[in-house]
Amino acid sequence: MARRLAAGGVEAVALAMVDPAGVTRVKCIPIRRFEEVARFGVGLSNVFSVFLVNDDITSSPGIEGPSGDTRLVPDPASAVALAASPGWALAAVDQRDQEGDPWPPCGRTFARRMLERLADHGLELRGAYELEFFLGNRISAREAGEPDPIPAHAGPGYSAPVLADQEPFATELIRALETQGTGVMQFHPEYSTGQFEISVPHRTGIALADTNLVARHTIRAVARSNGLAVSFAPVVFAGLVGNGDHLHFSLWNRRGRNLFHGGDGPEGMTREAEAFSAGVLESLPAIVAVSCPSVASYLRLQPHRWAGPWACWGRENREAGLRFVTGMVGSRSEAANLEIKPVDGGGNPYLVLGSVVAAGLDGLERDLRLPEPTTEDPASLSAAVRRRRGISRLPSSLDVAIRELEGSSVLREAMGDMLFDSFAATRKGELAAFDGMDDEAVVRAHRWRY
Ligand code: GLU
Ligand code: MG
Repeated sequence: MARRLAAGGVEAVALAMVDPAGVTRVKCIPIRRFEEVARFGVGLSNVFSVFLVNDDITSSPGIEGPSGDTRLVPDPASAVALAASPGWALAAVDQRDQEGDPWPPCGRTFARRMLERLADHGLELRGAYELEFFLGNRISAREAGEPDPIPAHAGPGYSAPVLADQEPFATELIRALETQGTGVMQFHPEYSTGQFEISVPHRTGIALADTNLVARHTIRAVARSNGLAVSFAPVVFAGLVGNGDHLHFSLWNRRGRNLFHGGDGPEGMTREAEAFSAGVLESLPAIVAVSCPSVASYLRLQPHRWAGPWACWGRENREAGLRFVTGMVGSRSEAANLEIKPVDGGGNPYLVLGSVVAAGLDGLERDLRLPEPTTEDPASLSAAVRRRRGISRLPSSLDVAIRELEGSSVLREAMGDMLFDSFAATRKGELAAFDGMDDEAVVRAHRWRY
C-alpha cells in the first residue's frame, strides 16, 4: 500500500481519528514512515478520549491526567490518496495501548466489534452517511468574535441558479471524489442558507464510517481551493434548518439478499430487518446522545426541519426519526433501506454506527416487532393521539439525551464501561461548558469545529 501510494504521488499521510466530541484529529507522517507506523503506530495522549468540542479536557475513570499514551495505528486498507489535496493521503486509525491491545474508548474498534457480532448472525450491513454542509466565506478567519460567514448561496434550495453560481466548486468536488474512488451518488444545493448535500455510494463494514472522514476532508480541500470555508456543524445560523449526517443502511444475508425487501413484515421487511429496526427505534432516544452529541445539536433537532425529531418510523416520512425508504419499483431489492435522520455532523461516525448496530442486535436477539408506522407529521397529531400511538419526542436537549444514554444498558454493555463512561463524561463536560449561553453563542462555538 505504501509503495502504491508513493507511486501515485503521495508524500504525506494524515492519520485521522475522531474524538468523542466528533472532532476529527490528525497526526501526519511522511509516506516513507507508513509501513513502520502501520506496525507500531504514532503516539497520542489518552486524554483525547475525554476531549470536548472546545478543546477543553475532562476526565473519566482510567483517563485522568497527563500521563499515559495510546498508539494510532493506521489501517492500510482505509488509506485514500486525496485527489483534492495533492501529495496527501488520509488513513483511518485504530487506537491501541502500548502493549498493542485495543484501547477501550476507541470508537473504530467498537464499531468493528459490533459489525463482527452482526456477522455472527449471518448478516452484513451496507450503508453510507449522507453529508449536508454549509459553504461560505469566513470574514476574519479564526479570530474570537469573528462575524458571521457570508453564505455561498441564499437559495432557492435545489436550484439551477445556485448550482450555476457554485459550479467550479461542484465540478471539482465531484471530480475529486470520483477520481479517488470515493464516488458520488448525488449532489445538490440544499434547502438552508449556504447549504449543499452530497451522497456517496454505500460501503460494507467499517469502510462505511471511514468514508465519512474521507468525504469530509475532500469537501474541505475543494472548498479551500475555491476560497471558501465549509462547516458540518449541526447549525450554522441559529433558527435556520441545520446540517444532517443521516445514516442510510440495509441488511444483507449470506445469500446476498437485502432483508429490507420481499419479506412478510411491514413495508416488505423480513422478520429480521423488522426486529433490527425495532431495536434501533427502542434505543433511539439513547442513540441520540451519540448521534446528536453537542449542545448545538438540539438547535437542529426540532420539528419541521426534516431532522427526524420524533421517536417513530414511517415510509418516506421525513419528520420521523426512522424514515423507511423502499426505492422505485423494480429497484427495491437493491435500494430498500432505513434512514436514521437524527444524526448530525457532530456525531462520531464510528460511535454512531456502533451504537446503531448494538441497538439493532438487541432488537434481533429479542425478536422485537415494530409499532404501526407513522405517515403523518407527528407535530400535526394531538398529544393524546401521539401518546396512544406511542410516538414521543426524541430528546430536545443534550441534558435529556444524556439521561437517556445513562439509562441505556444496551449501549453500556455494547460499549463497555470505559468507552461508555468517558463518552458520557465528555457530554456532561460540554453541557457544563455551554451552560447559560444563548443560541447565537452556542452556534458560534460549534460553527467551525467539525
Ligand atoms: N437538513 C435536514 C436535517 O437537518 C435534512 C433535509 C433532508 O431531508 O434532506 O436533517
Ligand atoms: Mg438533505
